Amino acid sequence: ETLDKGLEKSKTTFFSKLSKAVAGKSKVDDDVLDNLEEILVSSDVGVATTLKIIDRIEARVAKDKYLGTEELNKILREEIAGLLAETNVGNETEFTVPKDKKPYVIMVVGVNGVGKTTTIGKLASQFKKQGLKVVLGAGDTFRAAAIDQLQVWADRIGVPIIKQKMGSDPASVAFDTVQSAVNQDADVVIIDTAGRLHNKVNLMNELTKIKRVMQKVIDDAPHEVLLVLDGSTGQNAFEQAKQFTKATEVTSLAVTKLDGTAKGGVVIGISDQFKIPVKYIGVGEQVDDLQVFNKIEFVDSFFK
Ligand code: GDP
Repeated sequence: ETLDKGLEKSKTTFFSKLSKAVAGKSKVDDDVLDNLEEILVSSDVGVATTLKIIDRIEARVAKDKYLGTEELNKILREEIAGLLAETNVGNETEFTVPKDKKPYVIMVVGVNGVGKTTTIGKLASQFKKQGLKVVLGAGDTFRAAAIDQLQVWADRIGVPIIKQKMGSDPASVAFDTVQSAVNQDADVVIIDTAGRLHNKVNLMNELTKIKRVMQKVIDDAPHEVLLVLDGSTGQNAFEQAKQFTKATEVTSLAVTKLDGTAKGGVVIGISDQFKIPVKYIGVGEQVDDLQVFNKIEFVDSFFK
């Protein structure tokens, strides 16, 4: 229900555009396919993934020349669900961390402003609610505001935070955080990092160093590298995914601000292009406005 509310804009726009495109038509013809292509691109699905979807629908039309527009919804839905299923294997609805990794270390990456701090706060809150012991690490040492903001979240939800002063070495903060989590017998560690994209080599070196240093404490850390992307920024989100996946091994995605956009299609395109599962979606600014991404619910919300 909250997902529907959160994704209302994406849903209304995608579905109403689609309905308009097929209005008065009984058959899926070239016009309908052209319109569909435009709708997918304008919903931020991305050109490559859009063409893939159109190709597949064309193949179905080739098999059945009289394919009706009523069936188009069903087919489109199947194709999108199929694409999402390639990377988003499960249908999780609960926030969980693997029990065999203690502490489970999540390193969070992404550029400033995408909702990184907020996502960390929301995640920490969910884990804490489950009775898990969470430790935060203020690894974005380049901005005083980043450290302060994370402190605000830590206070709000009542979890410890490890920080140093602005300008200190992020790897050192990461080391302290992981060490402290081990000492406290914590369950989950969430470490923020600076997302300065202006220098690719620097970004790669910095993230590599942070990883290397935390591995002095836990040799297979981080267990998860979560890239946060702003779902309302379309092509920028694709570009950021490209840069971060070049700089480090990203293992999961959080797509934020899907409440404020008519372009939820970015989830479909990014998941397809980068073959990385979307794990969480942000649907508002409040602490509970983070959801575990569920592909079935997501596709439903597009077509309802
Ligand atoms: P950071 O610079 O990446 O750490 O970004 P912040 O976490 O500070 O978030 C930037 C702004 O986006 C803040 O005003 C947040 O409240 C807002 N924000 C974060 N996630 C969401 C979301 O899912 N929906 C909406 N509407 N706003 C969000």
